[in-house]
Amino acid sequence: MTRHLAPTRRGVLRGAAAVGAGTLAAWAGGTQTAVASHHRTGTPRVITRHAGPYEVMALLDAHGIFPGTQQGVFPDATDADWAYARRLDPAAFGPDGTWELDFRCYAVRRPGGRITLVDTGIGPAGSPASDWAPVPGRLPSVLRHAGIERDDVDTVILTHLHEDHFGWAVDPTGTPMFPNARHVVQRTEIAALDAGDSALSYVVEPLRRTGLLHPVDGRVKVQGRPGRAGLTAVPTPGHTPGHQSVLVDGGRHGIMITGDVLVHAVQLAAPDVAYRLEDDPTTARRTRHALLADARDHGHLLATAHLNHTFLRVGRS
Ligand SMILES: [Zn+2]
Repeated sequence: MTRHLAPTRRGVLRGAAAVGAGTLAAWAGGTQTAVASHHRTGTPRVITRHAGPYEVMALLDAHGIFPGTQQGVFPDATDADWAYARRLDPAAFGPDGTWELDFRCYAVRRPGGRITLVDTGIGPAGSPASDWAPVPGRLPSVLRHAGIERDDVDTVILTHLHEDHFGWAVDPTGTPMFPNARHVVQRTEIAALDAGDSALSYVVEPLRRTGLLHPVDGRVKVQGRPGRAGLTAVPTPGHTPGHQSVLVDGGRHGIMITGDVLVHAVQLAAPDVAYRLEDDPTTARRTRHALLADARDHGHLLATAHLNHTFLRVGRS
């Protein structure tokens, strides 16, 4: 069943983008809030939080309008859910029911200065996300602004293999952008790709060819010693079969880099609300509840990819 989902998803996105071509031409900053990131044309603003010895930097690759209405991609959300979501993330509510969203990656600077990058955004012009996302992203200039050289990056963790998350891992010629980095992906995520999925040819094969692909199975401590502070890849399936999040555990304080466990504030307001392009909505829902409960219990900050807020604290229910 999953074999056909990627093309279907791309078909949905591409079709909606074609219909909304006028809207796409207007890709640009969008509404700002106090904690929203910069416009595409402004100076990159890097928002940082600390978790013990780790510095977690939110890096905005792009901001734009999703191809499709909010109600269309979250059909189960009620008026009350939308009202709550609007309070949580007012910048997500564009004109005519459109969804405005960030495309964000995170960099974790570790003691000693080495960098773990979590996701690589929509990529340059010509990347697979070009069909529907506001390419080119600006991650390279944001990294420079953050004082990060590509060679400093020794680990890239891809939460999943959707085109708005792997865009800058390689350039359109298949050359890895972070040649010193092992690229950590769940093996189940790779195994679930359809033979024709662009993720396979665009990113998986070039990384494998250059020895940079590092498949993992399940919960894995990517950095740090057992029982100590560290970075852990945590399986969070549902959005895709091998989706993973990243827990930056700094001892007393933790930051959970969620990936697409929740893509919109409406799923924070009402975690039962499915996103139309989730691979397995039932699993995604279970995962979302579990991640939110864990964050609440442990006081982890959430670091999301697509909400117009960088770091969020989950309130007690
Ligand atoms: Zn995404």
